[in-house]
Amino acid sequence: MKQQCIQVDKKKGESVRKVLMENGALDTSVRIVSDESYIYIPLISAVDLKDLLFEDLQVTEHDFKVHEKPATLESILGHIPRYEVIGNIALLESDEGDLETTAAALLKVQPHLHTVLSALSPVEGEFRTRRFTFVKGENTTQTVHREYSCKYAIDMEKAYFTPRLATERSRILEQVKDGEVIVDMFAGVGPFSILIAKGRPSCRVVAIDKNPEAVKFLRHNIELNAVSNVEAVEGDAKEEAQRYIGVADHIIMNLPHTAQEFLGAAIVIAKPGTVIHYYDITPESDLYSTSLGHIESAASKAGFAVELIGTRIVRSYSPHQFNVCIEVKLY
Ligand code: SAM
Repeated sequence: MKQQCIQVDKKKGESVRKVLMENGALDTSVRIVSDESYIYIPLISAVDLKDLLFEDLQVTEHDFKVHEKPATLESILGHIPRYEVIGNIALLESDEGDLETTAAALLKVQPHLHTVLSALSPVEGEFRTRRFTFVKGENTTQTVHREYSCKYAIDMEKAYFTPRLATERSRILEQVKDGEVIVDMFAGVGPFSILIAKGRPSCRVVAIDKNPEAVKFLRHNIELNAVSNVEAVEGDAKEEAQRYIGVADHIIMNLPHTAQEFLGAAIVIAKPGTVIHYYDITPESDLYSTSLGHIESAASKAGFAVELIGTRIVRSYSPHQFNVCIEVKLY
């Protein structure tokens, strides 16, 4: 499409473009073109150039191509589907209508994605895993997820992982001081443990998980992130606790629903001054009281008193239930 433009020496192109832009004279709907010597800057047709022209500028005509707007999910599908991205995998909500069409749109607008899956089950069982249906792209449940400065190799079907706890993990890191000992009782593939180990190289991190597949990835992730201060332990946190009596400055109990059963083991690992980061799923009518009561009762059995140092909603879990974190200090 031919239109009016300014022909300017390449060296002056940027300054002229700026002046035209500031004065509303630049036509941004088409691409600026150049050849070996000149840049051709498209003009809005109604513009009055009298006050703008520099000495050696030439007004001429040239062919311009219209900027193609990149396709968006909304422009392709008419709505924005619900999905989350884990590494190169997009995970679609199973009620997202025509999954195949939605997946094709996702792969088109986000070229870094290689796979689209849809969840076939909720997080379930002792190892907190999910089953998935393959929708489009490469048929795999494996990927590498990047979070803050860390990388996590994951098999979404074999071990638990959610990117939704990223902020929570960095919040815990901020509470850890140099030289402390952290016991991550339900470590999964290592996102709390490795972030802390990397952020506080002088700390010792004990990362326990019962799921052998999770521990396989945890070990791999320790190498992937080149951290040497994480001890990966495959086993039941209740039994493994006996090997770490009274060592912990921080205990991370990220096993919502069931963490209560492991409070006795956490107290074994604890010493005066230990901070327990306790995660639970609670109803909005009783976000913290009952869970705090469980912590207090387990602590008092071992002669510890409890100081509540923080409570927070981490994320919503269902319409009236929340994933919460309760933080206490024992003394
Ligand atoms: N903290 C990890 C994260 O943020 O990705 C994983 C959390 S996931 C909700 C809970 C983990 O606890 C799972 O990896 C599961 O295998 C592990 N688990 C369940 N029962 C366990 C037990 N008795 N001892 C140790 N780990 C256990």
